[in-house]
Amino acid sequence: MLSAVPSPCPDPASAPDPDSRAWLAALSGGDERERARAAGRLRSLVARAVRDGLRGRGERDPDLAAEAAEAAFERLRASLDAYDGSSRFTVFAASFAFAELARTLGGARSPDCRDCLAAIAEHVEIELVGGSPGGAMPALEAHLGACPGCADAREGLHDFALRRA
Ligand SMILES: [Zn+2]
Repeated sequence: MLSAVPSPCPDPASAPDPDSRAWLAALSGGDERERARAAGRLRSLVARAVRDGLRGRGERDPDLAAEAAEAAFERLRASLDAYDGSSRFTVFAASFAFAELARTLGGARSPDCRDCLAAIAEHVEIELVGGSPGGAMPALEAHLGACPGCADAREGLHDFALRRA
């Protein structure tokens, strides 16, 4: 489905966009206080995404939210090197929240789910710039069509990115 919403997304030719580059610079820069501040903002973003995802499931347990946010944040921290600029950094970061919920609550547990959940940020970003993610990522599209857990995660990330990523 093509989005009619005006896109805040960068020209893919100049990816990563300046905001994403600023995130990376702050997270890996030499200034310790700036690094800590950036990590704090990143943790908040992931926690917001987790709360969004839980709300979408009708789930409001604050302990569950805190636990999932921490797990998603740690996984994200260990995966920063995997960021390749194919989506905005904030969308990449938020994807870890929705992937965590899909794995723990959504039954997305097949080996294919891991690959799928690692790529939902790119899939969402292609859609948000008005492209055809199904054409660009046919294997992922097929998995999404067959796996409700991963499809929910993608949908949640899409809505989150539209609103505030
Ligand atoms: Zn799946």
